[in-house]
Amino acid sequence: MPVFETRLVFNVPGRYYVGKECSGCNQCTKFAPRNFRFEDTCLQGFVFKQPETPEEEAACAQATLKCPSGAVAADGDRHDWTASSGFDPHKKVVEPEPPPRPWWKLW
Ligand code: SF4
Repeated sequence: MPVFETRLVFNVPGRYYVGKECSGCNQCTKFAPRNFRFEDTCLQGFVFKQPETPEEEAACAQATLKCPSGAVAADGDRHDWTASSGFDPHKKVVEPEPPPRPWWKLW
């Protein structure tokens, strides 16, 4: 199950969300096409609409169970969505530069 803080930024707030563990298999959109979409640029699924009917709720629960990466969580209603925007796969992680080597350690 994904960690809430590393949920993808594309998810709409609510109970269900997809985390950065998503492998991009696109199965969730088959199980719950009214609630899940596929982000083409980073190749990951996300929740674009939270379930509003019992049928959509069942479909989202099925998508959560069937996700091969375990990347769909159903505990989003227990978290504060305003605290952070989540994980953006488009942003590059900038590694800090290593400190320069002293002149006496050049070889
Ligand atoms: S089923 Fe899981 S791994 Fe596949 S696209 Fe959906 S969230 Fe990602």
